[in-house]
Amino acid sequence: MPNELFNSFMTGPDERGRFGNFGGRFVSETLMPLILELEKQYEIAKTDLNFWDEMNELWTNYVGRPSPLYLAKRLTNELGGAKVYMKRDELNHTGAHKINNVLGQIILARRMGKNRIIAETGAGQHGVATATVCAKFGLKCIVYMGAHDVERQAPNVFRMRLLGAEVVPVTSGRGTLKDAMNDALRDWVTNVRDTFYCIGTVAGPHPYPAMVRDFQSIIGKEVKEQMQLNEGRSPDTLIAAIGGGSNAMGLFYPFLDDDDVNIVGVEAGGKGVNQKMEHCASLTGGRAGVLHGNRTYLLQDDDGQILEGFSISAGLDYPGIGPEHAWLHDIGRAKYVSITDEQALEAFQLCCELEGIIPALEPSHALAYVMKIAPKLDKNHIICMNMCGRGDKDIFTVAKHLNFDMSEVC
Ligand SMILES: *Cc1c(COP(=O)(O)O)cnc(C)c1O
Repeated sequence: MPNELFNSFMTGPDERGRFGNFGGRFVSETLMPLILELEKQYEIAKTDLNFWDEMNELWTNYVGRPSPLYLAKRLTNELGGAKVYMKRDELNHTGAHKINNVLGQIILARRMGKNRIIAETGAGQHGVATATVCAKFGLKCIVYMGAHDVERQAPNVFRMRLLGAEVVPVTSGRGTLKDAMNDALRDWVTNVRDTFYCIGTVAGPHPYPAMVRDFQSIIGKEVKEQMQLNEGRSPDTLIAAIGGGSNAMGLFYPFLDDDDVNIVGVEAGGKGVNQKMEHCASLTGGRAGVLHGNRTYLLQDDDGQILEGFSISAGLDYPGIGPEHAWLHDIGRAKYVSITDEQALEAFQLCCELEGIIPALEPSHALAYVMKIAPKLDKNHIICMNMCGRGDKDIFTVAKHLNFDMSEVC
């Protein structure tokens, strides 16, 4: 494979945490020792069989892994082309892929003797996953959440409180995810000794993007084995939705060196990438810059101020994209596209009606892209999309967009 940096796409990042021009660790001097210690401890844990034994036991008995690989027969027939498989990560405990990664980081935190876990959350999904695992281990959990998001995501705030977490509303800046990330980093510097910062996507300073990817790679590893059993070969095309890019990286990573596997990441196109930032497509509609300790593509204005973006799906609202995706994009190993709110809503409904699966709005974006390309592909072509979350959380949003009056049924 043509790859100037590494002899394999799977050996990145380099020792400075760079994927080509992306990634790295752009952090203050006070944070540097913490980041280096984390990197050292992760490197040790990564090759320790006891660490993976503990992960595997919990993945099996707490999360419910492996998640099934499901052939969506009616959807395949309806689209009339490629065979469509769904990786059912929406069946995980807490309803999405986020817990795969949180478990890894919290087991690592325990090994490092840290008993205070901090996290940032936007829509609240990562906060809920973190609060869940902290409750399971009896750890103190503090979740930073933009004040604006606290208002918008009341059910998730309540879930976190039920799970024993403290939710700190962040009022600095615009009171959204970016501001919550800044406050979490500040907390970490202030409470070095007992605190572990649990990041929810393949972003942040090195080693986070690589570490989160490694934990989420269980998705792709399972797909590889399951597809062998089902079809005797690898899929032709992988498709996943991208907020920060962790579920996508988890599906893609084990296939990066398989030349004949097409890889497609789907960003949230909101009302359309051509209009003024009413989308969350950092790669297809943003520019390179530094945020959250790494260099990557970001939604920003002409002055470099980070913009909030817009999507019907709250989980796709991360204003950047993981640096490894930025790199895979620039070297051409993966392709990135965007899907609008309207297209995602259409896919959402089709999935409910044809497969009896209510998808989250995030994977509905991936599914919409499947709907776009499957009809044009040969019947032997195998697509695997990641159904990374279930849609129970989204039914009120969808009802509003479909002008369905909830009060009429009640
Ligand atoms: C959080 C979330 C996402 C976006 O995060 P990634 O890091 O891009 O995976 C996507 N889907 C669901 C269901 C989520 O909860």
